[in-house]
Amino acid sequence: MTSKIALVTGGTRGIGAGICAALQAAGYTVAANYATNHEAAQAFSKDTGIPVYSWDVADYRSCQEGVERVIKDLGDISVLVNNAGITRDMMFHKMPPEAWSAVIGTNLTSCYNMCSLIYPAMRERGHGRIVNISSVNAQLGQLGQVNYSAAKAGIIGLTRALAFEGAAKGVLVNAIAPGYINTDMVAVIPDAVKQKIIAQIPVGHLGEVSDVARAVLFLVSDDNQFLTGTTINVNGGQNRV
Ligand code: NDP
Repeated sequence: MTSKIALVTGGTRGIGAGICAALQAAGYTVAANYATNHEAAQAFSKDTGIPVYSWDVADYRSCQEGVERVIKDLGDISVLVNNAGITRDMMFHKMPPEAWSAVIGTNLTSCYNMCSLIYPAMRERGHGRIVNISSVNAQLGQLGQVNYSAAKAGIIGLTRALAFEGAAKGVLVNAIAPGYINTDMVAVIPDAVKQKIIAQIPVGHLGEVSDVARAVLFLVSDDNQFLTGTTINVNGGQNRV
């Protein structure tokens, strides 16, 4: 490996924070991006020593400035984890254009933005690892998540196509489709609904951020030389696809 510098979008809370911690423990120099929750980001940075960078991954120019800052501070990025994501759940017949655009922008266009700023240099260096965080609901579909399911399914297509292009240049691109993981995103689901969700998970409980982080760690490590364009399902057995 040429360098061990990793950038994780949405890296200050939830799954992203777990990924950052795992990468740091494995010897990577890590940068964590986030959006607007400065308090959570500062607390995360204080706990871990990982530098945090605020920008909106849905906005190309902000990504450009953010990536430049990270490279200036830490050096060339060898690992990119596109993890930032949001939900704006509602039934489709009530879904305004804003709820569609926000979710597509933050979950899917963000992957274009970040890859387009980081992948070309990886390609030139002949080495890079990209992991995109999709969702079980890309594969299953979900009530109230037409926008989210579409964005997360788009990530799987982006991953496959970019992996094709990067393969001969040493850039491996994979996705992870987590099932329901115990984070703030799932905490907002009403308890009665959450119990119904848990009843559908074969292992009988929510996943932990460390379950996703371990899969990321393998995909970006030198142990992985042959997996690219694939989606790893970390979902407690919800494999109905
Ligand atoms: P959280 O809501 O706990 O954390 C989201 C992180 O993303 C925060 O750091 C947040 O920053 C950041 N973020 C949100 N919007 C932006 C933006 N526009 N620009 C930059 N950063 C942004 O999410 P989870 O940890 O639960 O989810 C992480 C990923 O995993 C998401 O892509 C999600 O869709 C996916 N996923 C989650 C599952 C789950 O069960 N939790 C299941 C399947 C997939 P800030 O703190 O500033 O808001």
